[in-house]
Formats: sequence, structure tokens, C-alpha cells
Amino acid sequence: MRPFGTTIFAEMSALAVRTGAVNLGQGFPDTDGPPEMLAAAAEALRSGRNQYPPGPGIPELRAAVAAHQHRFWGLEYDPDGEVVITAGATEAVAAAILALCEPGDEVVCFEPYYDSYAASIALAGAVRRPVTLRPGADGRYAFDPAALRAAFGPRTRLVLVNSPHNPTGKVFTPAELSLIAELCQEHGAYAVTDEVYEHLVFADAASGHVPLAMLPGMRQRTLRISSAGKTFSCTGWKVGWASGPATLVSALLRVKQFLTFVNAAPLQPAVAVALALPDAYFTDLRAGMRARRDQLVGGLTDAGFDVLTPEGTYFVTADITPLDGTDGVEFCRSLPERCGVVAVPTQVFYDDPEAGRRLVRFAFCKRPEVLAEAGSRLRGAT
Ligand code: PMP
Ligand code: GLN
Repeated sequence: MRPFGTTIFAEMSALAVRTGAVNLGQGFPDTDGPPEMLAAAAEALRSGRNQYPPGPGIPELRAAVAAHQHRFWGLEYDPDGEVVITAGATEAVAAAILALCEPGDEVVCFEPYYDSYAASIALAGAVRRPVTLRPGADGRYAFDPAALRAAFGPRTRLVLVNSPHNPTGKVFTPAELSLIAELCQEHGAYAVTDEVYEHLVFADAASGHVPLAMLPGMRQRTLRISSAGKTFSCTGWKVGWASGPATLVSALLRVKQFLTFVNAAPLQPAVAVALALPDAYFTDLRAGMRARRDQLVGGLTDAGFDVLTPEGTYFVTADITPLDGTDGVEFCRSLPERCGVVAVPTQVFYDDPEAGRRLVRFAFCKRPEVLAEAGSRLRGAT
């Protein structure tokens, strides 16, 4: 694991603390999640729910996960056997890859990719086959269908799909998902989907969120992963889940029992409460985040960046070329000292750093006054 060094998120958050900069690097909200959820966690702590919960997660949370997926996506999973609770989506992704891959198996993924993917693939002794997402003339990131087709081969074990996508904010379209589904079936591959931003697709996106598992033939070969962190503004809780057919879920659980065994007992009933919140909670979350997106996109545009407006997530990527930037890593390392703002260079999420050399990512899951301050600092420096 030596080549993996320290994650960019840890490096950039430490830089923010050291320089006192506004941290738009690591993606975490600066406000708390729903009060009902926080009260339920406090109550669980006080009422003695503090010992090991069952390995797959407490029944009420598994039932809430299943009901939530049915309510929003019409997907049916049996809470007993088809749902498992994990230490965030991160553990679910790692356990899924470790469970499904033998050394030398290939994992197709889209770059830029969330950094834990490469590490989890390496831990499994598997090989990643990245397909590059590039910004098109329409400002949307897309992949070359021929490149995706070429990435699948006889050693392909699974494809890892993150939609809505971090760091680009791309929402995979039904046509793109159909091609992925077709290739999985042609090659007998599994799919592992990371849908942690499932509730953060904005009204002006070309398409809404479509779980890959909904496509014909995909439910039986897909492990669908999500987590509470983004939807309920509790990234530090690390409560996530995976759903899929019992064979895949039990394979994942076999690995998970030796990674963490079980997860945070008192937080599980609280997340169950949050998942059952009325639709208005999810609508307001999305609308609030869209307003923040528009605020930050405006601030970055005024500061001279070439901004790629995201359709989902709480990240925006921007090209530094108009600001005479040639390398995002250098740009992000000097930005806190130049103007007191932290961003993340997206080239670290590519196998081919050239593809993302001039792109940087800003998080907009922050209070409006924080985004306003970041905007004025950036305008002052550019
Ligand atoms: N996947 C993606 C795409 C993410 O952006 C993140 C960041 N939170 C995670 C997984 C990790 O989620 P969790 O904190 O639930 O492990
Ligand atoms: N998911 C968050 C991001 O992409 C942070 C995760 C982390 O720090 N590992 O910024």
C-alpha cells in the first residue's frame, strides 16, 4: 500500500487547519443533519444501546433501508438477507471488491474515481481498468462508449459505477447505464454501484437518478451501496449499507465480519429514523444544495474559472486555464496562502493525470455566508 501515501482529503484538510483557510476541499457539511435523527441517537446512547449489534446491522435499520429504496426507487430487497449495514459506503465498497474479486481479476471503473476505489482494488490484488470521463463541448462529462466496450474483457469481474459522480457532479444517463448493463451481461460481470449522492440530483439535470439495479437483468448481479453521510449530513457517523441478491450480500458479509465485524450500535436506530423522514426532507435537501451550487458556480465564474456546472453531488469542478493555471496540484497547494481557500486537485483521481491536470474541485455543502466569503477571497486573488 506504500504508493497510496496519505489521502488528498487529509492533506488538504490539514492545510486548511494550518492556514486558517475556508475549506472547500474535503466534502463535509458545516451544519448538522435532521434534529429527529440527532435526538434518536442521543436517546439510543442513554437507553443502553451501546453493545455489539448484530453483524448485518440492527433489524430496524435494515428494514428502514429496504423501505427507503422501495419508496424512492421501487426496488425491493428483503431486509433479512438482502441488506447489510456497513461502516459507511467506504467499507461496503471495499468489502464488495474483496468479496467478489480474485487476484488478477479486473475492475472497470470511471476516472476520475473516488480515491478509496483504487486502494480497495489493490487490497484485493485486482487490476483496475479505468475509462476516462472528459468534459464535452456541452459542459457535461462523458465517456467514449468504445473505450468502455474495450475495457471489458475475459478477466472483468465487476464494474464500479458511482452516480451521481464524485468529483465531476455527473449523473449517468439512462443510455449510459444501459450500455453498462449490456456489457455486464455480455461479459458475465457484476456491478457495484456507489450511490451515496442518490438524493442530490438537481432539477436541471438531463436525467434523474436511476439506480443501475433497476435496469433489466441487473438486480441479480448488482450490489447497490449508499450511506447516511451525505443525505443526513453526518459524514462522521460512517453508517452505510449494501443491498443486493442474497448470494452477493452474504459474500460481502463474509468479508465485512473480519473488517469491522459490526458498526456503531446507537447510530443505527437514529439512521433508521432519518430514512423514514417525509419526502419534504429530501426535496428541501436537494433545493438547498442547488441554491448553494448556484452560489458557488457564480462565485467561481466571477473569479475567472471555467466552471463545469454539476448536475448532482455537492461538488463542482473548475478549469484553471483561464487563470493561467497549468497544474491543479500546484494551484491547490498555493491557493490557501494566496487567498485563504482550500480546493482539491482532481488529477489525483485519474490514472492518467493529464486528463485532469487543470481541473480542481470545490465543495459547496457549506453555509451561504461561508460560500460568499470563499467567493470574495477568490475574486480578490484572481
Ligand atoms: N463514495 C463516494 C463517491 C464519496 O464521495 C464518499 C465520500 N463520502 C464515499 C463513498 C464515502 O462514504 P462514507 O463516508 O459513507 O464511507
Ligand atoms: N467523500 C468526501 C470527499 O470526496 C471525503 C471523504 C474522505 O475524506 N475520505 O471529499
